Amino acid sequence: MNAPLLEEHLRSLKLPAILANYRRLAENARDPIAYLGEVASVEVERRHENGVKARISAARFPTLKTFDTFDFTAQPRAPKTKILELADGRFVRERRSVIFYGPPGVGKTHCLIAIGLAACTHGYRTLFTTAAGLLTDLLEAKRNGTLTRRLRSLDRFALLLIDELGYVPFEREATDLLYQVISQRYECASVGITTNLAFEQWIQVFPDAMTASAVIDRLVHHGSVFEFSGTSHRLKSRDGNPQTRAKT
Ligand code: ADP
Ligand code: MG
Repeated sequence: MNAPLLEEHLRSLKLPAILANYRRLAENARDPIAYLGEVASVEVERRHENGVKARISAARFPTLKTFDTFDFTAQPRAPKTKILELADGRFVRERRSVIFYGPPGVGKTHCLIAIGLAACTHGYRTLFTTAAGLLTDLLEAKRNGTLTRRLRSLDRFALLLIDELGYVPFEREATDLLYQVISQRYECASVGITTNLAFEQWIQVFPDAMTASAVIDRLVHHGSVFEFSGTSHRLKSRDGNPQTRAKT
């Protein structure tokens, strides 16, 4: 077979990585099976990279943060090893949940994004949203008669990250929906939450004390709670950099 025909086949089979690399790999090829293995690997790698990129873009992270840039010395009471372990994606495979709890500016959202990014690289479909954004979206879907479809679309994500639970008070209709989302995922899919509310205060974001304790029970039964403390990193960085403004 001549090269133009081979290249046409590779294009029609949608194997761009092989197309780009087959000549280079052929230069050192010793046996045909090893060569075929090498060209197949470049395609597999390229697809994995594309998959990761697509999952990261679909996750709608507000910004990209990793544990590499997280200073654990600022959180001496948080269990560094256990938090770093979350980046291996096992908690998503085991359908467990994670809660980062603490005052504003201490790195909860940073860590939530970091575990989400890691999940994307491990092949898990992830969605990042704020509690307020999620509920606005669901209430709108309810008004449009598309709630069932919207809820089902959340099921496609192995990991649902809900940032800032408790920052804004919600109406009963919204808290009912939040309860529905979280209870629907129990033992089926993972949830990651950041909150400034201690469990005693979760009554503020769920319809009543019973549902609040049912949600806590579920999240804690198959999940881990990490408490962050200290003063806001935003205020600290504002001291060092007058351009930076504290958000909360
Ligand atoms: P929270 O969600 O707890 O309010 P964020 O995660 O939004 O706080 O953190 C505020 C800012 O400070 C972000 O830019 C974050 O990257 C940074 N930050 C907070 N804590 C740390 C830390 N321990 N190491 C590095 N950056 C941090
Ligand atoms: Mg935050």
